[in-house]
Amino acid sequence: MCESFNKWIVEARFLPILFMLETIRRMVMVRIQENRDKCEKWDDPICPNINKKLSKAIDVSGICHAVSNGNNCFEVQHGSQRFTVDLNQMTCRCRYWQLSGIVCAHAVSAIHQHTNQLHGYVASCYSVEAFKRTYAHCLQPVEGPQGWPESDKRKPLAPRYVKMPGRPRKERKREGTEKPKATKVSRVGTLIRCRKCKCIGHNKTACPGNASSTSNGPATTGQNAASTSNARSFTKSRSNAKASKMSTSKEN
Ligand SMILES: [Zn+2]
Ligand SMILES: [Zn+2]
Repeated sequence: MCESFNKWIVEARFLPILFMLETIRRMVMVRIQENRDKCEKWDDPICPNINKKLSKAIDVSGICHAVSNGNNCFEVQHGSQRFTVDLNQMTCRCRYWQLSGIVCAHAVSAIHQHTNQLHGYVASCYSVEAFKRTYAHCLQPVEGPQGWPESDKRKPLAPRYVKMPGRPRKERKREGTEKPKATKVSRVGTLIRCRKCKCIGHNKTACPGNASSTSNGPATTGQNAASTSNARSFTKSRSNAKASKMSTSKEN
């Protein structure tokens, strides 16, 4: 019941506090009024939803066979099962009657031996009278904020900003089921160009020109290695130059 109420007011819950309370109050006021109007049309002594359940029980009671002991206690055969019904205690061994307050099919078949009126055997909370009593009180209409009395108290201030210890987090916390953040941009869909033959669609490792060069044997690979080591030494010298530059600037 609490959860269904929460679902009903879920939109109002996203509003600021005053608007939220006002929205909920108005929703409740309308609901009470609707329920008051609704129950005026009911002629039965039992509420319609409960009547639906009762008619289902009446249908099932057609296949039940009740035998009386003469003191309002019954043995009810329902298919292969047998239940005992006590009309004085308002109980059935299937326990549905005790738990819900609505007569079960076994009890219906027992009650039908005396009377066709079931409403005397249904819990009083399901009566239309109880429903009317629930909605007897209605909410009073409320003026808009401009009609509210002015308070002589000081107006409340917004709370001070409290700085929490530690560096504030930049990354949001991910759920356990979420993927970790991607650190590389995906290259799917980008065109690649070979460095050797300048063709589009493969890189230099997959170059068809490689096939002829690998057949020449280890000499070319050695050459390749030499060229890469050359490149490495080149970058090294560049970084050295940078470092020396920096040191000179520091000295200045
Ligand atoms: Zn029963
Ligand atoms: Zn190529």
